[in-house]
Amino acid sequence: MKTGKLVVLGSINADHILNLTHFPQPGETVIGKQYQVAFGGKGANQAVAAGRSGANIAFIAGVGEDDIGARIREQLSRDQIDVSAVETVADETTGVALIFVNGDAENMIGINAGANAAITPDVLARHRQKIIDASALLMQLESPLETVIAAAQLAHQHQTRVILNPAPACDLPDELLALVDMITPNETEAQRLTGVTVQNEQDAARAAQLLHNKGITTVLITLGSRGVWLSENGQGQRIPGFQVQAVDTIAAGDTFNGALVTALLEHQPMQTAVKFAHAAAAIAVTRAGAQSSVPWRNEIDAFLH
Ligand code: ADP
Repeated sequence: MKTGKLVVLGSINADHILNLTHFPQPGETVIGKQYQVAFGGKGANQAVAAGRSGANIAFIAGVGEDDIGARIREQLSRDQIDVSAVETVADETTGVALIFVNGDAENMIGINAGANAAITPDVLARHRQKIIDASALLMQLESPLETVIAAAQLAHQHQTRVILNPAPACDLPDELLALVDMITPNETEAQRLTGVTVQNEQDAARAAQLLHNKGITTVLITLGSRGVWLSENGQGQRIPGFQVQAVDTIAAGDTFNGALVTALLEHQPMQTAVKFAHAAAAIAVTRAGAQSSVPWRNEIDAFLH
């Protein structure tokens, strides 16, 4: 019997963010202006968005055997997430993103997958009951692809809805796409998967059709401040987002995904669920940072009223 639970399978990273006037050239040292460590990773961001927006959520992920991993695990727990399947991986470091941000707000990012790469299909198998019991499984592409495929297969066999946020942009086997019930690419990711450059609604409709042809029932292409293109049952439409004063759009898509799935698990109709997710993401873009910008349920409800 399905109980409305959500499982997120994905990445955890510690983001080390250094603001500097200009990027260093090879061999150059540049003194930074500001440095901070923030908790990130697309999986963790989406899990936090789901937890804060009210989902009954368990997270399958990995942290290293280090102080930051322990701190991140505690924080995820405070964000209303069941962390019993967040593994502490022996002899590994927590995933890191090393981010330089220059004076023009451009960034350069290097990532070490660390413990994220250790979440193999064998590790996943230890947590299979969580996927079997859940109503929905939400994944991104910062975990090993074979683990994403194994999780999709298991979910599909047990009538757990498979939702894939195909980020970061990456080529995907048809074998995986055929197991996906709902996909939520942004414009760049939609282009990577379909070859269609998404610049207007016609392009979005064409890209969505190509994804339907792979066996995916619901396609939602996020269009930044213009909202989303929703395509299901042969019908496509744009659902606009909310106009807000954006501070930074970091984790906008992650907040959207976490909140959307929460609303769908509450049996909200698709259009209402998309509006709920737009509200959550709109709040997030008015605030700086990734997980620090993700709103709680009472804030989303207040925004919508
Ligand atoms: P990603 O962050 O994955 O690139 P998008 O940029 O498409 O994803 O944004 C995802 C969602 O975040 C949008 O559908 C919308 O709800 C919200 N959003 C993004 N940018 C803005 C903005 N400038 N103003 C309001 N909402 C935004």
